[in-house]
Amino acid sequence: MTPVPPRIDVVCLASWNADLVVRVPRPAARGETQFASDFEISPGGKGSNAAVAAARQGAKVALLARIGDDDFGRMALALWQAEGIDARQVTVATGERSGVAQIQVFDDGDNSIAVYRGAGMGLGAHHAQAAESLLRQARVVMASNEVPQACTLAAFAIARAAGVTTLLNPAPAATLPDGLLALTDLLTPNEGELRALAGAPADAPEAACAATLLARGVGRVLVTLSADGCRLHTRDAAAQHLGGHRVPVVDTIGAGDTFTGALAAALARGEAIASAMRQANAAAALAVQGRGAIAGMPGRAQVQALLA
Ligand code: ADP
Repeated sequence: MTPVPPRIDVVCLASWNADLVVRVPRPAARGETQFASDFEISPGGKGSNAAVAAARQGAKVALLARIGDDDFGRMALALWQAEGIDARQVTVATGERSGVAQIQVFDDGDNSIAVYRGAGMGLGAHHAQAAESLLRQARVVMASNEVPQACTLAAFAIARAAGVTTLLNPAPAATLPDGLLALTDLLTPNEGELRALAGAPADAPEAACAATLLARGVGRVLVTLSADGCRLHTRDAAAQHLGGHRVPVVDTIGAGDTFTGALAAALARGEAIASAMRQANAAAALAVQGRGAIAGMPGRAQVQALLA
């Protein structure tokens, strides 16, 4: 008898990098050197983070990713195994380096980040095509702008043809072609990414930017508003705002990734968008209370307790 393949809820087109995190008082001026009060190496990459967030919310997650055959790549494989994430479609690229992110966390909890994507840059359309049967049987396929666009386009085209929900976290900020926007069912920009995508100035009204993206073919736009929560924009209904939870912030690394991952997990369970938003908003509010991207990411019980 042929073995039954395991059920997969969410396929994540994933970036991976090791986060090299230092704590400094404030952003350095050009040419300035500051002493850091702390240094940590922790798991990162928007895709990997979102995959972990979704897995902790109970989703069966599979990754499409490319990593180097180095210590940071082995760190990724160990993490995914520990989180119960299916990494069978992950390519380990011989002789290449895994991605790294240099992160500075400031005293006010904000941060600045430089990402070297390393082997992740080699993820292409052919990787999506090789994973077609996996993509077709998922409930949600998600990606971020850290993944090469050719891969996202190919994977979203396969997902769309199979009626699988596509979820794009357009981070870091970039402009995106209409072809990709039209294949995106749900887009989760933060406020800066929203304006960058719409090609609008920093003070442009949120609703007008969201309307621009809806007109360019996005299904729904869910803007994340940091401490103010999030707001959903659709073509046919008034915007729905969900306020943020008042919590003590340790750092906001991975807040958007946790939001997207928890959203994907809830949508994959078949929940309506309003309920999925509540869970994503709660999961992200819990995550900002922990250090780094992964450490604060909650399990399902913690999210349910916050919402009870
Ligand atoms: P990103 O991390 O991508 O820049 P945001 O800063 O908008 O995105 O944060 C994503 C989500 O994380 C928010 O929609 C909210 O649910 C949660 N969040 C972020 N910062 C806070 C905060 N200070 N208090 C409570 N929730 C927060």
